[in-house]
Amino acid sequence: MFSNHPDFDPVLRRIKHFAALSDTDGNFPIEEFREMRQAGLLSQQIKPGKLSFKSDSLVDNFTLLKSIGKASLPVGRIFEGHMNALQLIDIYGTTAQKKRWYDEVTDSQKLFGVWNTQDQDGLFAHERADGNFILQGSKTFCSGGDQIQRPLVTAELKSPSVRGWQMCIIPTEKVAAIRQDKSFWRPLGMRASASFRMDFTGIILSKDNFLGAPNDYYKQPHFSSGAIRFCSVQLGGAEAVLEETHQLLKSINRTEDTFQKARIAEMSFLIETGNLWMKEAADKIQSGKYDSDQIIAYVNMARSMIEEICIRCMALSERSVGARGLLRPENLERIHRDLTTYLRQPAPDASLVSVGDFVFKKPEIKKLWEPQVVK
Ligand SMILES: Cc1cc2nc3c(=O)[nH]c(=O)nc-3n(C[C@H](O)[C@H](O)[C@H](O)COP(=O)(O)OP(=O)(O)OC[C@H]3O[C@@H](n4cnc5c(N)ncnc54)[C@H](O)[C@@H]3O)c2cc1C
Repeated sequence: MFSNHPDFDPVLRRIKHFAALSDTDGNFPIEEFREMRQAGLLSQQIKPGKLSFKSDSLVDNFTLLKSIGKASLPVGRIFEGHMNALQLIDIYGTTAQKKRWYDEVTDSQKLFGVWNTQDQDGLFAHERADGNFILQGSKTFCSGGDQIQRPLVTAELKSPSVRGWQMCIIPTEKVAAIRQDKSFWRPLGMRASASFRMDFTGIILSKDNFLGAPNDYYKQPHFSSGAIRFCSVQLGGAEAVLEETHQLLKSINRTEDTFQKARIAEMSFLIETGNLWMKEAADKIQSGKYDSDQIIAYVNMARSMIEEICIRCMALSERSVGARGLLRPENLERIHRDLTTYLRQPAPDASLVSVGDFVFKKPEIKKLWEPQVVK
């Protein structure tokens, strides 16, 4: 069942309460992450006593992301980055690195994030004579900003012996300060995601801060299928739109009208359609029976569907609540801005086109979702 996460109801309610207060330019959701730390949410995906990420229960992970996204999309965004980093450590970390970084979450409640997006200037890691690397350049859309204690950044290696796109995890308190440019982040919505530009120039890293080999970050199917995490958060936002619409129409006694019933019906089956997509994607990824191309295509289909579901739910809600339902301080006004902004994720066109490619490459459509991997 892909519904809200009951274990965390109290903390989710408090995150929802703080979401309206946190919605200001340049802000980070401090109170929300205090609550998350107290509830043990930062280490929830690390298997107790084991050096591994809970990837055997993807539905649980997606449900948690969806529940947090429903309470606050900016908090969901930052938490999704944390979960992404923990998963990358699980896949590419050495045993010693897993111990170090997972201990930093379980014992010290460190918050991780993944910062890959960059402008023209980009980020480079230059090898020095002493074998260490010095960073030069910046990243954009760095959710969490200076509240992320362990940013995982990707940098282009500049070295006589090694090339490629290298993941590095920066121990922020042990290196020179990362310069934060808040002026980059003046968005329509998702203000509290604190997605600033961060300049890493001058930071020196030893190789034990490198995660995986060069270019591992883009290895498939992990890279493309990771989109399913942000879909979970987005779907939580769409469910919040349904919930707010439901409450508002009830509070003003507009539930007997046939058009209102038709719109709330459509929103409800759209959300349930999203739930089914997420559940099926989780099952397919976890089963291990599908090859990389199938997983990527399936997640890209889910991604396109969830985007359409979110957009359609917002349009139906607007018509249902009218202008007065979209006034501040109604929650809908903020959730609408946040979801509109958060739906803009990388390469949506390429993601759709890749599904078309996948389908045309198959000799027959009945083979599309036939298991390819014999377990
Ligand atoms: C709230 C928020 C938080 C974020 N946090 C992070 C973070 O913590 N870490 C991180 O790494 N990133 C983060 N990002 C960035 C995110 O992952 C995407 O990179 C970014 O949102 C994409 O921006 P865009 O819509 O301007 O993209 P674009 O890629 O410019 O896409 C805009 C449109 O142009 C199309 N397009 C793309 N390329 C081309 C081309 N070559 N020719 C023609 N058309 C093209 C696309 O399909 C789309 O239709 C965040 C983004 C948001 C909104």
